[in-house]
Amino acid sequence: MFRSFAIGDLWYERKTPKYLKPKVSASNFKNRGFINDFKGFLPLNTIAVIILAAIIFDVVIHIVADILNLKMLQEKLPKPFQGVYDADQYRKSQDYLRVNTRFGWITGVINLVAILLFWFQGGFPAVDNWVRSFGNGPVLTGLMYIGTLMFFYALLSQPFSIYATFVIEERFGFNKTTWKTYMLDLLKGLVLAILLGAPLLAGILAFFEYAGSHAWLYCWAIIVLYMLVVQYIAPTWIMPLFNKFKPLEEGDLKTAILSCAKSIQFPLKRVYTMDGSKRSRKSNAFFTGFGKNKRIVLFDTLIQQHTVPELVAVLAHEMGHYKKKHILQGILLGILQTGFMLYLLSFMISYQGLFDAFYMSRVSIYAGLIFFGMLFAPLDFFIGILMQIRSRSNEYQADRFSVKTTRNPGAMIDALKKLSVHNLSNLLPHPFYVFLNYSHPPVLKRIQAIDSMSEDTYCQGRDK
Ligand SMILES: [Zn+2]
Repeated sequence: MFRSFAIGDLWYERKTPKYLKPKVSASNFKNRGFINDFKGFLPLNTIAVIILAAIIFDVVIHIVADILNLKMLQEKLPKPFQGVYDADQYRKSQDYLRVNTRFGWITGVINLVAILLFWFQGGFPAVDNWVRSFGNGPVLTGLMYIGTLMFFYALLSQPFSIYATFVIEERFGFNKTTWKTYMLDLLKGLVLAILLGAPLLAGILAFFEYAGSHAWLYCWAIIVLYMLVVQYIAPTWIMPLFNKFKPLEEGDLKTAILSCAKSIQFPLKRVYTMDGSKRSRKSNAFFTGFGKNKRIVLFDTLIQQHTVPELVAVLAHEMGHYKKKHILQGILLGILQTGFMLYLLSFMISYQGLFDAFYMSRVSIYAGLIFFGMLFAPLDFFIGILMQIRSRSNEYQADRFSVKTTRNPGAMIDALKKLSVHNLSNLLPHPFYVFLNYSHPPVLKRIQAIDSMSEDTYCQGRDK
């Protein structure tokens, strides 16, 4: 949860399917866990039926998209990649997709079963009774309740995460994470979650507990403030806990990047390289922080594989996100979405039916947060799709910006091709899969879009 502070990046990475992610964050309080002793299934109310249908729908629709996606695979290499991908490597990329898709199904089904068992065996009230037995006040009890559920979820997801890193990524030659790095990451993540997450959660619980009908407004204010502060300090205080950042060395690359930044009046002072090779051979670049703290970061793996013009094109893409105000747009949309959720939450948080759905006899703010998160999931699903449509269109804009700035469409296209081959990306994802899962357009579409820019668009004025 504290690892992703990039707010505009170059490349789409296959991520954990959305339905597997724990969503206990400032913007979504949903969690999963498991339980052991069987007490027989309990009856459901309307809200429970809605939530259950949404969870199952989410799993099914992603599996359908996966199947369509696998059916799209074909032996023939798409034309723009002839000579870039060799036959073996191309086959390997398809195997990589198959293996990851199957693995996603297994984890998805196990998670689904675990959530349903926990829910229908009365796991939510059982944990509630346990945390209440300590006799603490509502805020501390709430922290314990949500903390316990998160802990169970983390425990459940560890074997999958270990398998993905040390078996799948290893098999395809990507993994460079050592056990030591893995365990340290886990530990640092936990400490950060406690240091940064717990005070915010305590604040939210306290406002809803004591501040009356305007609690959602106060919560909105502290969450927004928190988001901005964390984004601001992430590049200097948080990200260095996980990776080493070094200013880019003097040389051709730095000179070329700075002169490109100057040509578009981009106030670039900091370009860093990051030791991405500590965990994986995959490469990427991203933009992070804002105000005086903004910086562009290139993975060391990226620098090794690309020529100077390609790297400048990549940097120009990142600066495009900034110049076209995508970053500001993202922050504002995040703020609005948070406010909307909190407003709805304020109506639902003490609604008895929501608690009945999870067999809870006692109403509490902390459990209300979790249950509301689950009820909100279907809406979140649609909001997420809209956000991805926005994100994909921003990527096209950033690509265009890069080509207009560097006047070198070939460099951007070559960079995209190399990235695809190196990261074993799926060249022909199914449109429905893209619609559901992709934050970036498929690479062939990006190349097509650059190709279709006429020469005079990028040879004339630069600020169009
Ligand atoms: Zn981008």
